[in-house]
Amino acid sequence: EAKQRGKNTYVRYQEDTYQAFVKRMDIQERLRRSVEENYKGFELYYQPIVNTRKKKILGAEALLRWQDDVVGRLSPAEFVPLLEESGLIIPVGRWIIRTALEQCLCWQKKDKNFRMNINLSSIQLKKSDVIMDIETIMQELGIGNHNVLFEVTESGELESDSITQKILFSFRKRNLNLGIDDFGTGYSNFRYVKEMMFDLVKIDQAFIRNITKSQYDYLVVKQMTELAHSLNLKVCYEGVETADDLECVLDLNPDYIQGYYFAKPTTASDFETRYLCMEQKF
Ligand code: C2E
Ligand code: MG
Ligand code: MG
Ligand code: MG
Repeated sequence: EAKQRGKNTYVRYQEDTYQAFVKRMDIQERLRRSVEENYKGFELYYQPIVNTRKKKILGAEALLRWQDDVVGRLSPAEFVPLLEESGLIIPVGRWIIRTALEQCLCWQKKDKNFRMNINLSSIQLKKSDVIMDIETIMQELGIGNHNVLFEVTESGELESDSITQKILFSFRKRNLNLGIDDFGTGYSNFRYVKEMMFDLVKIDQAFIRNITKSQYDYLVVKQMTELAHSLNLKVCYEGVETADDLECVLDLNPDYIQGYYFAKPTTASDFETRYLCMEQKF
């Protein structure tokens, strides 16, 4: 009987995988159509990043959203991997860079120090000439690289892949600001971060989530922050959600804070009315 059950489980598993596969293919097809229809359904949301010492908005992180007529809204955790798998991340990535830089230019007219953070996928780094794309768009818009920062997610690959390393080095050569995202979850160590001359370390939400309850997480974040500062890197905490979180992390002296406590990611127009040039009281 156990054998029988085992077999059924196996069959069900295969069916699930097949269904999941079909669903993935369907969504990829819809993503492809969105791209072909001039990025219909894609939108950038913006989440404020707060300068902790100045108690004002440093800028925003651009975060991709996608809405489909049939599938509805999916989270980037669901659809970004599909964009990567299908190679669509290359054109969509270009669209993201252009859209975010146009928005940045517009907001810099109201706040000259406004900074935009843009996420790059490792596929974009490896499979396209992303630096050329960035420089072309920057030149076209007449926007400087000073207040723009590109975030790449920490992963073992980032560190071990020599092509990726070369590309990250050419970011440095061209004075393009680089941040390492989700730091602490992967394999990167500080020597690597220092060697690659990142400008910013974003400590992953996973460490901040329980920071008021876990002495261990608190100490890890404290250590990471001190080490980053000793290497002249700026530190941003992600995932600060409550007043308690905020009170707790302020003692650790982060340069920047990003989290639901201040604001969730929102549309460009909402960002502009609610957060641009706003002081933050805390
Ligand atoms: P990420 O780059 O680490 O972005 C931060 C994520 O944390 C965002 O999720 C943001 O909404 C979320 N977040 C911010 N503050 C809080 C908080 O206080 N609590 C909680 N629970 N979450 C918070 P989002 O927008 O769903 O994006 C998820 C991931 O998808 C991003 O992580 C990034 O890896 C990827 N992604 C999003 N937009 C883009 C993009 O334009 N290009 C690429 N390549 N990847 C993107
Ligand atoms: Mg990011
Ligand atoms: Mg992150
Ligand atoms: Mg991430």
